[in-house]
Amino acid sequence: MTLPVRAGLDAVPAYRQGRSAPVGASKLSSNESPHPPLPSVIDAVQERLGTIQRYPDMSAAELRSRLAARYAVDPAQVTVGAGSVELAAQLIHATAGEGDEVMFAWRSFEAYPALVRIAGATPIAVPLDADHGHDLDAMRAAITPRTRLIFICNPNNPTGTVVSAEALEQFVAAVPRDVLVVIDEAYVHFDRTSYSDEGGQGAGIDLLRRFPHVAVLHTFSKAYGLAGLRVGYAIAPVEIAENQRKVAIPFGVSDLAQAAAVASLDAEDELALRIDEVVAQRERLRALLEDAGWAPVASQANFVWVPAGTRSEELETLLREGGVITRAFPGEGVRISSGSADDIDRVEAALAASARTTRTPHRSDQRMNEEVHA
Ligand SMILES: *Cc1c(COP(=O)(O)O)cnc(C)c1O
Repeated sequence: MTLPVRAGLDAVPAYRQGRSAPVGASKLSSNESPHPPLPSVIDAVQERLGTIQRYPDMSAAELRSRLAARYAVDPAQVTVGAGSVELAAQLIHATAGEGDEVMFAWRSFEAYPALVRIAGATPIAVPLDADHGHDLDAMRAAITPRTRLIFICNPNNPTGTVVSAEALEQFVAAVPRDVLVVIDEAYVHFDRTSYSDEGGQGAGIDLLRRFPHVAVLHTFSKAYGLAGLRVGYAIAPVEIAENQRKVAIPFGVSDLAQAAAVASLDAEDELALRIDEVVAQRERLRALLEDAGWAPVASQANFVWVPAGTRSEELETLLREGGVITRAFPGEGVRISSGSADDIDRVEAALAASARTTRTPHRSDQRMNEEVHA
C-alpha cells in the first residue's frame, strides 16, 4: 500500500529556515530586526488579545485603507497576507499554472522556485550577472509566450544588490503587458540609493502607478520587525488583486497581526531611527569584512553577502565559533544579517581572532574564487 503523493511534488525543494541560534549567540541568519517590538506595538496587540475567540476581519479593512492612503492607491489594489511570501504564492496561483513559466533571477529569494513548483508552473532561473545583480537583458531575452510572471527582488536577497529605478523602468517598459512584473521590495527601507530620496516609496510604487502590469510586495517582517506575527501586503492591478482573493486561504492574517501592522504605521518615525541604525551597522559589517580580506558585496539591504565560493563554510564556521550564526550557501557565499552594535562587535572579534590564528586571504585568492563562482 502506498499513500498518495501529488504528481510533481518531488520536484518541490523544501524551504530551509536560517539556522537557529544557541542561547546567547547572535542570530544573523534570517534578516530579522535586532530590536525588540516597539512598546506601542505590544500595547496594540495586548489590547486585542481579549477578542481572539473571534475570527479576524478577513478583508483587513482598516490596515488596507491605511496602506491605500499611504501610497495613494485604490484600496481594491491592496491585499494582505501571512507575510509577503503568502502574497508571492497568491500572485503565482492567480497568474500561472501547468505549462506556464515564472521567471526570477538566481540566486535570489529561496522561496520562489518552490512556490512556482507548488503551483504546477515551471520556474525559469536566470543567473545573476558578474556583479551579483539582476541581469535584466538576459531576463528580457528569456521571456517566452509562456511567461506569466517575473519576480524582481529589489534589493536582492541574498546579494543585497539593487536595480536602479531607471533600469527597472526600462525593463518594465520592455516586458509584454500580458506578463506581470512583481517587484519584491522586502528590503526597500534599507535602500539608501532610492528609498530616502524618493519620499519613502521605493521604485516599485512609482512604476505600479505608471504601468498596467506591475505589482509590488512589501512586508512588515524586516524593517518593521514583525517577522513572528506574519503580515505583508501586495499592491497590484485591481483585476490581479481580485484573483488573488480567489486563491487566498481565508483568514490568513490574524487580528493581532493586523493590529500590530496598523500600530507600526503609526510609529514610522520611530521605526525610521531603528532602520538608520541597522543601515549604519550594515556599513560597519561590510567594512570589517572588507578589511579582513573577505571581499563583501556592497549592500542596500539589512544584510551583507560575501561571495566566498569554496571558502564559504570556512567563513561560516569561524563566525559561528565567535558566537555569530549566519546563512551559508555552500560553494557560493555567506549572508550575514546586520544586527545590533553588539552583534557586529562579535563579528569584529571573530574576524580578529581568525586573523591571529590563520593567514588572511590574499587578494589573488579572492579573485580566483570570484571567477569560479560568478
Ligand atoms: C523575507 C522576505 C520576504 C517575506 O517575508 P515574510 O516574512 O513572508 O513577509 C519576501 N521576499 C524576500 C525577498 C524576503 O527576503
